[in-house]
Amino acid sequence: MDTAAHIAQAERFGAHNYAPLPVVIASGEGAWVTDVEGRRYLDCLAAYSALNFGHRHPALVAAARAQLDRLTLTSRAFGNDRLGEFCQRLAELAGKDMVLPMNTGAEAVESAIKVARAWGYRIKGVPDGRARIVVADGNFHGRTTTIVGFSTDPDARNGFGPFTPGFDVVAYGDAEALEAAITDETVAVLIEPIQGEAGVILAPEGYLAQVRALTAERGVLFIADEIQSGLGRTGATLECDNAGVVPDLYLLGKALGGGIVPVSAVVGDAEVLGVLRPGEHGSTFGGNPLAAAVGLAVIDLLSTGEFQARARDLGAQLARRLGELVGYGLVDVRVRGLWAGVDVDPDLATGRRVCELLADRGVLAKETHGSTIRLAPPLVITDQELDLAVDRLTEVLADLSHAG
Ligand SMILES: *Cc1c(COP(=O)(O)O)cnc(C)c1O
Repeated sequence: MDTAAHIAQAERFGAHNYAPLPVVIASGEGAWVTDVEGRRYLDCLAAYSALNFGHRHPALVAAARAQLDRLTLTSRAFGNDRLGEFCQRLAELAGKDMVLPMNTGAEAVESAIKVARAWGYRIKGVPDGRARIVVADGNFHGRTTTIVGFSTDPDARNGFGPFTPGFDVVAYGDAEALEAAITDETVAVLIEPIQGEAGVILAPEGYLAQVRALTAERGVLFIADEIQSGLGRTGATLECDNAGVVPDLYLLGKALGGGIVPVSAVVGDAEVLGVLRPGEHGSTFGGNPLAAAVGLAVIDLLSTGEFQARARDLGAQLARRLGELVGYGLVDVRVRGLWAGVDVDPDLATGRRVCELLADRGVLAKETHGSTIRLAPPLVITDQELDLAVDRLTEVLADLSHAG
């Protein structure tokens, strides 16, 4: 089957909740994928950072294979011999006491909302049913009904109500607005240290420290959604490390599953995560031995610091090269580690159009919205490959300028 036939089949039998670029991938290795017609592409999206270690990293595939030959699923009705080690190693990596293992990112967010509410009622003493959580304008925390209810993106939200009450939205990066929104009934502040889906929006200098100080002062949990920013992408294990802050709860996902299985987690201290009692929360697949084995191999990769260093070094190269394009087809770029939000001149093209033209030239990237595209190549990409990606972007922008 050729590309068109695959797309037609997926359109005919699959729900239309995505509008993928017309590239049908059949295999992948490292930073490269090959489509059904044998064309090779440099992957500069990395499945929204779920592929931080590239496609089929040998150590991750080996860990998965070994576990497949032994045990894959037990449910949490019983223990399994990988779960404890996974929880301990992940807690240590994040500098926390405890881990609540789940599967998808949205589940980690949902779990943290439940934990924060339970903590609010049982520890903080908020009257039952009154707990509130402050979130940020432009947030992306997933796609469940509760989460889209506090999204400010009309596409994500409109038509899916009624929504779960108990959330207050403030401007991202505005510590005064945050302070004003906190009441005695506020149990948590939930924010992304970098807003990925919003266009790789970096927190203003000092903002995360202000969030930490305010929440500590007012007896409110600080929940950092590091599902996309965490696990090496930004040049540190966690973006909060870059900012020098320690939230109460980290939400991890995406790269935690090594691009092989969905693995997510809420990571926190015993005073907070310890509020959950048996029977109050769970997941059939959460903490399964295959997920734990892959997660452990991911933690091993992160433990050397090699990938964080690569993200820092290659990120400096990416920032330099993209910076040179500002005024030449780009109006702004934001780079942290190996992660860039690239604002194309809206008079030139939409982000979607730029991504189509990049795909024609063998580079895969994805727009966030409008004329903004995101570059998040796997951290295994080489400096030459990274240069190649920016060269292709330079060509696309030059072509668009000449056409216009
Ligand atoms: C992707 C993402 C999520 C949701 O993760 P899923 O695995 O798609 O449910 C939540 N928060 C952030 C910051 C994300 O980038």
